[in-house]
Amino acid sequence: MDWLDALPEARVLRTPAALLDYTRDESHVVGPLPRAVVRPRGVAALRELVRRAGAEGFTLVPRGAGSGKAGGCVPTPGSVVVDLSDWPGAITVNAANLSLSAPASAGLAAVKEHAEAAGLWYPPDPNSWPLCSFGGSLATNAGGPNACKYGMTRRWVLSVEALMADGEVHRFGIDSVKQNSGPDLAQWLIGSEGLFGLILGATVALLPRRREHLTVLLPLPDAGLLPGLPARLFGAGLLPSALEFWDAAVLADLRAHGPPEARRLPGEVLVLMEFDDAGCSHAGFVEALLDALGACGEQAELATGAAQREALWALRRTTSQHLKRRFPRKVSEDIVVPRDRLPAFFERLAGLDTPTVSYGHLGDGNLHVNLLDAGGLEGAALEAALAPLFALCVELGGTLSGEHGIGLAKREAFLRHADPYTVAALRAIKQALDPHGVFNAGKVL
Ligand SMILES: Cc1cc2nc3c(=O)[nH]c(=O)nc-3n(C[C@H](O)[C@H](O)[C@H](O)COP(=O)(O)OP(=O)(O)OC[C@H]3O[C@@H](n4cnc5c(N)ncnc54)[C@H](O)[C@@H]3O)c2cc1C
Repeated sequence: MDWLDALPEARVLRTPAALLDYTRDESHVVGPLPRAVVRPRGVAALRELVRRAGAEGFTLVPRGAGSGKAGGCVPTPGSVVVDLSDWPGAITVNAANLSLSAPASAGLAAVKEHAEAAGLWYPPDPNSWPLCSFGGSLATNAGGPNACKYGMTRRWVLSVEALMADGEVHRFGIDSVKQNSGPDLAQWLIGSEGLFGLILGATVALLPRRREHLTVLLPLPDAGLLPGLPARLFGAGLLPSALEFWDAAVLADLRAHGPPEARRLPGEVLVLMEFDDAGCSHAGFVEALLDALGACGEQAELATGAAQREALWALRRTTSQHLKRRFPRKVSEDIVVPRDRLPAFFERLAGLDTPTVSYGHLGDGNLHVNLLDAGGLEGAALEAALAPLFALCVELGGTLSGEHGIGLAKREAFLRHADPYTVAALRAIKQALDPHGVFNAGKVL
């Protein structure tokens, strides 16, 4: 029995069997057993944890639902995992302020459902929304298909409540889309991957619910037509709310080994796009879209009802899990290439020594490039296999991660490619906010 077992307002897990569940997330990274897992239900537990961590020199690893793909919530040696899933609190919608408040422990699915029940809409839609926590989506600044038009999670955050290294809960920001009283500390916590403090809850902005959708399945006869598609649409004055793709290899695998609905997916390469503008379901809009697509729109299929639309999105949402089942050793990246460089990127990707398959968010240049058999490689060999891909996207003005973050998985590569001034500035901020390295030390920086 030690002080951990006497923590107030918390459940503490110590058995190896219980700790084993916490050694991984959805990335290829596996960590050691943590010293303990704490599931706090009140601030008293967190205060004591922060005090002990600072004094004894261990780190606290925040964890939401563990669906992350960068190893951010994976324990480091001697760390204590803080699993926030028991953290209390209710989801409330404030229709007058067009906002919603929720605890970190809420599921993102529940957050989206509460907004919808009030006739409103919370745009962030990582494909893991049925799995991930609200807190995790904030800490990773989650993106998703809608980011193409509606941006990432940070665009919707009004205020954040977090427990910081002084052991106290602070609220950064107010419940309004207009606030300009100095630099915005709430935004520093969004996408911070648990480095600066423990997010306990947040208030986010909502929109009125969308009334119309036009969902289009666009088979392309030739992969060469894919990279120019975003520019073709934007040039015609069309901004899809989502513009996703599967390359030939991923599509063929889904067709051959995926769920029954995947068997009929058409094309050599396939695009799934959606529009939500007022009037987008009317003939005039469809005509303008087909005009913009020209010959490559000849095979376009419009989803005819809610059930078909949901089935198509379910296929897109589960593509990552499908590939993981088929290729358990896959390593999945989420690089970004500015959209005007997509033609050059796809051309040079095909020429890399390491074979890859891709799918993802074509509309914002955030591509899930997968190495299907790299998970068995150890540290340096894996770094070497990924290095040409990262070098290519950085050379083309892109970056290593569009949504999953850096965590442990991409730390080495991040430090190799990042601007030294940026790394020094981030380390100075970390030192100022968390001088004893209490929160997620060893990740990202
Ligand atoms: C099938 C699948 C599809 C996915 N699709 C997408 C996608 O489209 N877009 C996207 O962005 N991501 C996607 N992801 C990745 C992942 O789901 C998201 O990053 C998600 O936001 C992580 O939430 P989580 O609750 O699982 O966080 P975790 O995995 O538990 O943690 C993620 C990071 O956040 C930190 N953290 C968690 N909670 C807190 C907190 N309360 N305070 C401080 N730090 C915290 C952790 O320390 C860690 O660094 C996908 C994952 C899967 C498995």
